[in-house]
Amino acid sequence: MSRFFSEKFSALEPYVPGEQPQGRKYVKLNTNESPYPPSPIAQRLARQQAGDLQLYSDPDLRELRAAGAQAFGIDKDEIVFTNGSDEILNFAFSAFCDDNTPAVFADITYGFYKVFAEINRVPSMVIPLREDFSLNPDDYIGVHGTVFIANPNAPTGIALPIADIERIIAGNPDNIVVIDEAYVDFGGESAVSLINKYQNLLVTQTFSKSRSLAGGRLGMGIACKELIADINTLRFSTNPYNVNRMTAAAGVGALADAKYFADCVGKVKAMRERTAAALKELGFEMTDSSSNFLFAKHNAISGLELYTRLKEAGILIRHFETPRLRDYNRITVGSPEEMDIFIREVKKILAEL
Ligand code: PMP
Repeated sequence: MSRFFSEKFSALEPYVPGEQPQGRKYVKLNTNESPYPPSPIAQRLARQQAGDLQLYSDPDLRELRAAGAQAFGIDKDEIVFTNGSDEILNFAFSAFCDDNTPAVFADITYGFYKVFAEINRVPSMVIPLREDFSLNPDDYIGVHGTVFIANPNAPTGIALPIADIERIIAGNPDNIVVIDEAYVDFGGESAVSLINKYQNLLVTQTFSKSRSLAGGRLGMGIACKELIADINTLRFSTNPYNVNRMTAAAGVGALADAKYFADCVGKVKAMRERTAAALKELGFEMTDSSSNFLFAKHNAISGLELYTRLKEAGILIRHFETPRLRDYNRITVGSPEEMDIFIREVKKILAEL
């Protein structure tokens, strides 16, 4: 740290993203990316923009908003696009939390929530999940803070039924409830249909997983138009060109190609079930995942050791060395070929124990 770095950030612990190896070629099952490339339409539209990169992108993202509004059956003033969903989540911590309105989230959830609270210098209220990693909706009724729930949750993959989500939204009429639906397309129930019923609901989604655009950085928020206007106040005060031309065009293409989207999601879900069955056969225990990853442990090997041995064999998975998570690993569902290699290597490691 330099002597010029503001003291207000001296205790800030940045979020640690999963490894993105640049040298050796790994089977990469560690950051929940799609194993499939972006839709050919998304690729074509993005390429067309390359020759216009001397121009700023449309700060109002009119074409993308029109495509989003149509895809989700909402008004174009009820949607905002950001540089990944991380950006809208950061905006939400900034816009809707303060000294008297803490950020409320689970002890086991997306690790960035804690960092967003810190960088925005707002207090956090952390609510432990149950022993089995399930979330008790009663813990979130009338909490007097801004609620952040990943549904399905990460890194557990567990989804909360929409009735429970609605109870939490209705149970906090004077506070915002943010539902982070990064993984919803793989088996969760979306809260988007509730935005007209509840003025205190903000739903966030990402193009990084089910729409194969992690490297493009595209996220979105869906809410009543007053909340979207609040997010836009911060967006225009930070970077009105937060979504670049190529990514905005790729987003339009991804939304247009509903068949490609459904095919990719279908393949990932089928592969998830096949991999879960194979891991169970090998003695692994798992949460019930509604996402594009599995969260698994084995009594014969620690989470860290399995992670380390797989890495030596050229396979990356995600390990969190924290008290409640260290027995487990989070394994992204990859292509059939990748998952065959993964299962083969896990079998070998278990046999060598
Ligand atoms: N929410 C959750 C629960 C996530 O796991 C992720 C991906 N790491 C994100 C949001 C952010 O994804 P992105 O910024 O790529 O949209």
